[in-house]
Amino acid sequence: MPTQVWKCDHCMETNESFDEASNHEKECSFNPVNRYCYSCSNHSNDGFYMFGESYTCLKNQKMDHYEDVGGCPEWKKE
Ligand SMILES: [Zn+2]
Repeated sequence: MPTQVWKCDHCMETNESFDEASNHEKECSFNPVNRYCYSCSNHSNDGFYMFGESYTCLKNQKMDHYEDVGGCPEWKKE
């Protein structure tokens, strides 16, 4: 039997609970609203997104803890 799940609009994350899926979406690394590296065009495309740590920022921004400060100041839409 298939199980109904809610899928994040921005990544492959799924959840059986709507509330949890909705909470995830708000803080999803791939949600452009959060202005994180994964949705930023200053983020070098080398490599594969699973290895985000090896990505380089073209603006040389520090690439962590944006969740604490409301996103990267150099974030640019692709
Ligand atoms: Zn997500």
